[in-house]
Amino acid sequence: MTKKDKLVILDFDHTLFNTEVFKRHLKNAYLSYGISSERYDQTYNYIRKKLKRPYDPALHLRLLDGEIVDLKSLMGEVNYLVDKSKDYLYDDVVTFLEDVKDECDLNLVSLGKKRFQKPKVDNCRMNGYFSRILLTEGQGGLKKEVFKDIICENRDKKIAIIEDMPENIDYLKRGFPSITAIKIERVGAKYAEEKAELNNFTIKSLYQASNIIKCIL
Ligand SMILES: [Mg+2]
Repeated sequence: MTKKDKLVILDFDHTLFNTEVFKRHLKNAYLSYGISSERYDQTYNYIRKKLKRPYDPALHLRLLDGEIVDLKSLMGEVNYLVDKSKDYLYDDVVTFLEDVKDECDLNLVSLGKKRFQKPKVDNCRMNGYFSRILLTEGQGGLKKEVFKDIICENRDKKIAIIEDMPENIDYLKRGFPSITAIKIERVGAKYAEEKAELNNFTIKSLYQASNIIKCIL
């Protein structure tokens, strides 16, 4: 089999990127500029649940304008965190990508507000490993549709997905039983305790994924 016959589709948040720690550091920045933890959570949830939008600091900062001690400096701190997003990549990511890049075609799928998510992904400096990077701004439901489209376009290939969200894994396995679904459960990550029903493998880190991909695909 050649590289072109194998495709691994990877998710970004909680899979490659330590989103929990990044989110905590982002929140801490707001706290140091006079926003209480409760107020932060309240407005964060307003964006996510009421407005039903992916998280967007530009919008969050606008909502809290007037309550923040020094808006410009806080913006600078938020941008600084985005600039150093590479620090939040899990430490097995580059090793994994290096390990499989010559054997598989790699795609990346991520959900988030593009003006926030794109620089975050770009600054991780791993774009060169991926033949395609697809960012979507829709609610969770839409990300699985992006996965689905990629799978449909590559039906002639052997495909593995690495994703943390159980709902997405089950949805994709139901539609495409022949794909290999690897559920990653990072310590402390959002969906680590929530089980999928149809995943083929469960892993704690990407070190295990290399072996699975090399044996199965
Ligand atoms: Mg994820």
